[in-house]
Amino acid sequence: MRSLGLALVAIIACAPSGEFTGRVVGIADGDTLLVLDSTNQQHKIRLNGIDAPESHQAFGERAKQFLAAKVFGKELRVVTKKIDYYHRQVADVFIGDRLINKEMVEEGWAWHFVKYSNDPELTAAENRARAAKLGLWADAHPVAPWDFRSPKLTFAALEAEAAADPKSVTVYVTDTGTKYHRASCRHVAKSSIPKSLDEAKKTHSPCSVCKPPR
Ligand SMILES: [Zn+2]
Repeated sequence: MRSLGLALVAIIACAPSGEFTGRVVGIADGDTLLVLDSTNQQHKIRLNGIDAPESHQAFGERAKQFLAAKVFGKELRVVTKKIDYYHRQVADVFIGDRLINKEMVEEGWAWHFVKYSNDPELTAAENRARAAKLGLWADAHPVAPWDFRSPKLTFAALEAEAAADPKSVTVYVTDTGTKYHRASCRHVAKSSIPKSLDEAKKTHSPCSVCKPPR
């Protein structure tokens, strides 16, 4: 029984709940931060309940810039909810009373991450941002980040993304070929040079095998 007791203590000590304050020293994208605590330990923080556009997705860079403008160099209170698959702390982050997670949704730079959250405040914040066409909602058919990341991303979604912002879509060319391709195409298995869609279109035509966006 004694060893079981010790094991339980160890589990509790490692539990991912908790709270600390620290300074933001890096911004990975619109929902991921690096925070340095008072003991100079660095923490990778994934904002809880929200999902911002990926860096190479439409509005991704701007979401990152908006998050940076809010928090970079500032003192944050980090309330960790859990540790995710990528060993990031999934957390609510506050500056004073301001919940930054919610502000990102409120201002249209992130989606409510409905797969992992049913927070009614985030639902309401997203609805207000959508109605006011704030941030990424300026696009009538924005692609949800979870769809953008999905390997099953539909052709229609990629097409919509391309129409919204051709510079944000990456396609691939080879050093000798005349076609451009999706990353998954067998024609770019050996040689693959990333290009933005609008650049690729100037010099290459779409592959008929993988059917990249036009
Ligand atoms: Zn191809």
